[in-house]
Amino acid sequence: MSRMIIVSNRLPVKVSKDEVGSMLFTPSEGGLATGLGSIYKNADNLWLGWPGLFTEDAAEQEAITSSLFQENMKPVFLTEEEITLYYEGFSNETLWPTFHYFNQYALYKKSYWKSYEIVNQKFCDALIEVVQPGDTIWIHDYQLMLLPQLLRKKVENVSIGFFLHIPFPSYEVFRLLPWRKQLLDGVLGADLIGFHTYDDMRHFLSAASRICFVSNVHGEINTHNRTVVVDSFPISIDYEKYAGIAASNEAKSREIKHKQNLTDQKVMLSIDRLDYSKGIPARLQIFDLFLEKYPDWVGKVTLMMVVVPSRDNVEKYKDLKEEVDLLVGRINGKYGSTQWTPIQYFYRSFPIEDLSAYYRMADVALVTPMRDGMNLVCKEYVASKLDQKGVLILSEMAGASKELSEALVVNPNDKHQVRDAIYEALTMAEEEQMEHMAIMQDTIKKYDIHHWVKMFMDRLAEVQNKKVEMETKMVDKLHKKEWIDRFKNSSGAIIFLDYDGTLVPFSKNPQDAKPDDELHTLLKGLALLEHVKVVVISGRDRHTLEKWLGHHAIDFVAEHGVWSKFQNEEWKMSTPLNGDWKEHIAPVLEEYVDRTPKSTVEEKDFSLAWHYRKVDTGLGESRAREIISHLKFLAVNMNLQVLEGNKVIEIKSREVSKGKAVSRIMKDFWGDFSIAIGDDETDEDMFRAMPENAYTIKVGELSSDANYRLKNPKQVRQLLQDLIQGS
Ligand code: UDP
Repeated sequence: MSRMIIVSNRLPVKVSKDEVGSMLFTPSEGGLATGLGSIYKNADNLWLGWPGLFTEDAAEQEAITSSLFQENMKPVFLTEEEITLYYEGFSNETLWPTFHYFNQYALYKKSYWKSYEIVNQKFCDALIEVVQPGDTIWIHDYQLMLLPQLLRKKVENVSIGFFLHIPFPSYEVFRLLPWRKQLLDGVLGADLIGFHTYDDMRHFLSAASRICFVSNVHGEINTHNRTVVVDSFPISIDYEKYAGIAASNEAKSREIKHKQNLTDQKVMLSIDRLDYSKGIPARLQIFDLFLEKYPDWVGKVTLMMVVVPSRDNVEKYKDLKEEVDLLVGRINGKYGSTQWTPIQYFYRSFPIEDLSAYYRMADVALVTPMRDGMNLVCKEYVASKLDQKGVLILSEMAGASKELSEALVVNPNDKHQVRDAIYEALTMAEEEQMEHMAIMQDTIKKYDIHHWVKMFMDRLAEVQNKKVEMETKMVDKLHKKEWIDRFKNSSGAIIFLDYDGTLVPFSKNPQDAKPDDELHTLLKGLALLEHVKVVVISGRDRHTLEKWLGHHAIDFVAEHGVWSKFQNEEWKMSTPLNGDWKEHIAPVLEEYVDRTPKSTVEEKDFSLAWHYRKVDTGLGESRAREIISHLKFLAVNMNLQVLEGNKVIEIKSREVSKGKAVSRIMKDFWGDFSIAIGDDETDEDMFRAMPENAYTIKVGELSSDANYRLKNPKQVRQLLQDLIQGS
């Protein structure tokens, strides 16, 4: 039976020792543990991670291992030095600041990196002890970015998912890391890579393309003959749990207690871990600005600020704590009185019932991180607002802002904007508050943590199924044997061959992709077989095909079907076409050439092509998207189609397609063996037009309607060679 294995830096339980040395197991109450609980606790599934305690004692390790095993967990024991270097060091002092755009805080220490490598390897070794073929492994977060690839190299036939719980920064920031390539290669070992937002995903794809030179089509990366799918899955909270606690008597009575000395006060709440990414000092300065500009509110609003201690042995966090203490003191001193303390500051953590009471009593939640992968506090606030009265002020730099657009969304760097948003929130009509809150609640209720887990797991299963399907479609020896027999004994055979990407690999300059001797020999060999008709069917112009391949006794279709030439005949147009539209479209494409260095426009008889193979990676793709949306409407009106090829956008009449060309040819074909091989989107029309019993073969790993696959032109040539030899 295939199993599901979750891997994260920490296990969803903390193991510790009490005063007399007995082991304590404290389960985590975090959302992730809840969400994934439904998975790892099932059958013989497993969660693998660090148990949170140091012990080198073999007997103790064994005792912990066997206790945890009862709960479907497997510990990876780490030393104090490893936690210092790999976790506090590389993870939290190198990756964390870089990924949160605080790269000026990042430390690039070789010792950190070495330890990160060692610990990722340690996780891999621990996994290998338990992994079996067919298992699904879901790896979590920035501490384990090397693990997908390490594992991929060791075990075959497993499905690997990776999810990053923090933002993925723009390429310009990510590239600053000395180990950027190793990190990306590590993650690319996964089959599915998940991020919180589309922007994180976009940044990752851009970094992968610029640093590892792997390009993608709609989030599908083709690397080392594997497909890696990249997608966004915004994480959320256990909505019912938060709404349930907010409705409990316990939360209500704690609310009454906390509100005792806040009568006649509006309450504004902020809850964060102590972290520079949370924008706590800026928030305090904004509150100061608010009281300065709106003095009527002095004495009428209290900022309840919960700061949960975190990483306080790291220098930057100590500095931050001092800064926050200082600012709180200064503001409380500046505005406070014997009756009123502007900021009630708690540097501690609270049990969930207290947090729930705070959420209930807060008129405004002020969630203004400088950068946050998602931010769960804002979602918990919304879920806890049972009467729907309350306003959320939310930083646009938090992933959650993409979903919660009904909040007052602010830029935390624009202090005046946030200051005025506080005023707007405090004075917002109840009706409006409820309207916004209701929409946000619907969103969070629907897309809760269970939905998130399901979405990721379903997608991973889908990717895995596709992989299996792809493998079963790969042309192997058995297929070939059957095909050679049928080919040899057929009454007549036809072979449609696309040119670029199928018979020859792509080259930077399209004019360099000339046929080589091997290809000439192959085509000559095929042409010599009497019962075989060969058609090279290409997007290239007829002159090039004629010049490069015209001497072979084969047929041609050029410009995706505009022109055709049968043996001993002249080139002729397939259907009457008109190219007048080109004078309208050509200037549009020329405009893109002016804006995009190294792109070119190719004019063919009845089509125009915009090539971007030589354009900087990223820029070309983004311009291609622009061109497509620019031409979408024009094209419909002019009866044109816009086709995406490999690094080329092609515009031509709707009357033309490889599919239509194939249908015309197949009408007169009387044989019993047909095969079509192609690699790009335009070949899909050809595959669809082939008869049902035809062999259609996609070259490469992208989605296709073809019923078989080959990896590259080399394999195509081998197949053709085998067919010739077998005849
Ligand atoms: N939290 C907590 N105890 C506290 C304050 C907060 O457990 O005293 C929880 C809070 O309920 C939320 C989490 O800490 O679930 C913070 O998650 P978020 O995504 O907002 O920030 P992170 O700390 O993960 O960057």
